[in-house]
Amino acid sequence: MTSKKDLMRCRLCGCEALERAFHLGNMPRWNHRLLGSHEVASDRGVDLTMFACGQCGFVMLPTAPADEYYEDYVNAPSFSPQMRAAQLEQATAFVRRFGLEGKRVLEVGCGDGSYLECLALAGAVARGIEPSAAQRAIALTRGLTVDAGVLPADRGIADAPFDAFVTRQVLEHVGDIASFVLGVRRQMKAGAVGLVEVPNFDKLRLEGRYFDFIPEHVNYFTPTTLRLALELHGFEVLETAPAIEGEALCALVSLPPAPDFGAAERGVAELSAAVSAFVADSKRLGGEVAVWGAGGKGLSILACADLRGVDHVLDSDPHKLGRFTPVSHLVVSHPDILRERDVQAIVITAPAYQREIRQVLEERYHFRGRIALVDGGLRVIQERMSAGVRA
Ligand SMILES: [Zn+2]
Repeated sequence: MTSKKDLMRCRLCGCEALERAFHLGNMPRWNHRLLGSHEVASDRGVDLTMFACGQCGFVMLPTAPADEYYEDYVNAPSFSPQMRAAQLEQATAFVRRFGLEGKRVLEVGCGDGSYLECLALAGAVARGIEPSAAQRAIALTRGLTVDAGVLPADRGIADAPFDAFVTRQVLEHVGDIASFVLGVRRQMKAGAVGLVEVPNFDKLRLEGRYFDFIPEHVNYFTPTTLRLALELHGFEVLETAPAIEGEALCALVSLPPAPDFGAAERGVAELSAAVSAFVADSKRLGGEVAVWGAGGKGLSILACADLRGVDHVLDSDPHKLGRFTPVSHLVVSHPDILRERDVQAIVITAPAYQREIRQVLEERYHFRGRIALVDGGLRVIQERMSAGVRA
C-alpha cells in the first residue's frame, strides 16, 4: 500500500518539493475510452491537479491509473492510415540507423501489434509485451509474438537479452518510472539501443493545450525530464527530437557496457606481487628494507601488499611516529633511523612527494641503496650504488 506521503514524491527524482501547478475540475475519468449505456448513470467528472517538482522540474499527476485502465483502452492510431504510414517510417528509420535487420527487438506496451508489424516489415525480429488481453488477442491473430503483462524491474522474459527495444506512448502512463526503465534495461544486451516516444509536454505548455492534460497521462515529459528519466537508470540518451507534428517527443538511447573493475582488481594483485618481489630481491642483496610514507595512499598500499620482510615504515610527520599502520601493523619511525640502521632498499608510497623524498634521501641521509616508487605499478627508480647509508 502506498502512503499519502509517498504519493507526493516526485516520480522522477524522488524529492518531496512538489508544488501545485495546474488544476482542472470536472474532467472525464478516462479519455481513452467511451462509456457503455450501463455506465452513464454512475459516471462523474474528476478533478485533475498537476504538480511540478521544485528540484528536477518534472510535471506529474500524483495518482497512477488503476490496472483496469490497461484492460480496456482503444488503440486509435491503428485505424489511421496516416498514423500507420508515420509508424512504418519511424520503425524503418530506427532499424536502418542501428543495423537492426535480423536482430531481436522488444516492444514494451505493444498494444494490438501495429508497430510490431512495422518493425518486422523493416527487417527486425520483433517481440512484444502487453498488459491488455483484448489488445494482445488482436496482435496474436496477426501472427505476432506477444507476452502478457507489464515489465517491472524483477521480471525476465523469454528471448532476453534483446538487441533493441521500443516503447511508444507508454512511459506517460507509468506509476513507477524507475521500475519500468530498469525492467526494460534488464532485458537488453550491453550496447543495446532503444526508441522511447512520449507526448511532448513542451507543446502542451507553450500552446496552452489544457485538453492534453488527461487522467491516463500521469507523467508529462520535456526533453530535459525525458533524458533524466532514462539517464538516471543507466541509459545514454543519443538524441531527443519532436515527432508526430511536434505532439510527441522521441528519444534514442543506448545501453553502455557495465563499468569494468577488473583492471582495479588486477592492479591490486600485480602491485602486491611487485612489492613482495622488490622486498625479497632487496633482502637477498643484504640489508634492511623500509617503506617511506604512512599517509592515506601509503596505508592502503601497505594493507594490500605482502610485507613480510619490510623492516621499517618511515614518515617525517611527528604525529605519526610510534604509531602502527592498520592491517599491516608496522610501527612508524622517523627517517633519522636511516643514520643508524643498515637500510639498503626503500619503497616510496607517496608519488606526489617523491621528488622531495628523494632529495631528502640523497642530501640528508646520503642514501645509496635501491629505491622503488609506487605510482600505478611499482617502478625501480634507483639501483644500489654502493655500500649504503652512512651520513
Ligand atoms: Zn523531481
